[in-house]
Amino acid sequence: MFAAIIRHDWTRQQVLDLFAMPFSDLMFTAQQVHRAHFDANRVQVSTLCSIKTGACPEDCAYCPQSARYDTGLEREKLMKVEKVLQEAKAAKAGGATRFCMGAAWRSPKKKDMPYVTQMVREVKALGMETCMTLGMLNDDQAQELSDAGLDYYNHNLDTSPEYYGEIITTRTYQDRLETLGRVRAAGMKVCAGGIVGMGEGDKDRAGLLMQLANLPEHPESVPINMLVKVAGTPLEEQKDLDPFEFIRCIAVARIMMPKSHVRLSAGREQMSDEMQAMTFLAGANSIFYGEKLLTTANPEENSDMQLFNRLGIQPEEYQQYADDSEVEAELNAQITEQKSDAFFYDAAK
Ligand code: SF4
Repeated sequence: MFAAIIRHDWTRQQVLDLFAMPFSDLMFTAQQVHRAHFDANRVQVSTLCSIKTGACPEDCAYCPQSARYDTGLEREKLMKVEKVLQEAKAAKAGGATRFCMGAAWRSPKKKDMPYVTQMVREVKALGMETCMTLGMLNDDQAQELSDAGLDYYNHNLDTSPEYYGEIITTRTYQDRLETLGRVRAAGMKVCAGGIVGMGEGDKDRAGLLMQLANLPEHPESVPINMLVKVAGTPLEEQKDLDPFEFIRCIAVARIMMPKSHVRLSAGREQMSDEMQAMTFLAGANSIFYGEKLLTTANPEENSDMQLFNRLGIQPEEYQQYADDSEVEAELNAQITEQKSDAFFYDAAK
């Protein structure tokens, strides 16, 4: 039975074998794993706020924020703390439980740290989970963020080590792994995933998931992005990935990292409702809410909420737990309640 297996020793061939399963079998297996660890009808909702936009010195080939590509993106300096708080309050009112703050930096500078740590403290005081993505961190920066109460730090591996050089040349794969190690050592939760559809092959998608699952601890949050082709970036003409390959990627991530939240991130807006529904069936259980929700008076008119309603999905509530055993107990209670109330009946009666 897949459900109970938390492994950190995947070989590429084993991962490729999962990818090669007949689609129905793969989906069924992913659902078994998903339902063993989560309420399959709840999806965690995060909102992303860009606290510093553009002019990034890195050369990530997919990214409109790199200073090297002319994408017409307007650069913005570090956002004022009050403005960040305003955005966080709006996100909370719109149903988001986690507020993710992203800055287009190679790494934060010393002078930035007091501002970003203040953002963490104040957003947390609103009762939201906090996540930041600020680039590479040194030990002190990781500790400062942790001390401020930051819950998650996002740093993606992007792709397999073998394909990585095609996408980024200004920082190494090892740099990324070291930042993830520092985040863990400082006591924060890890958000790490990648992007598919960048011209990589099956073995690279397998290689990315293998790297993530073979970390000493699985990232608590695994964003799987579909490339958004932005005019002006080197990947603007990239051939589309078969949507079923994307769904397979979600399902394999679910099987390999059974207790992680697998997140649909960039590229979701380009997906049909049917494709999104299929990714939820494959085990995705976290999304970034659409921007529009924050400006839409009636959430019923928002396409994300409409889709949730059509699928009977509830946003996952943010609860603070003392430790992992409390989380497990709560999930088990939810799963048991579901089984007895909704999905099973006594056929003998
Ligand atoms: S480091 Fe981040 S912001 Fe900078 S180019 Fe890469 S993805 Fe974009």
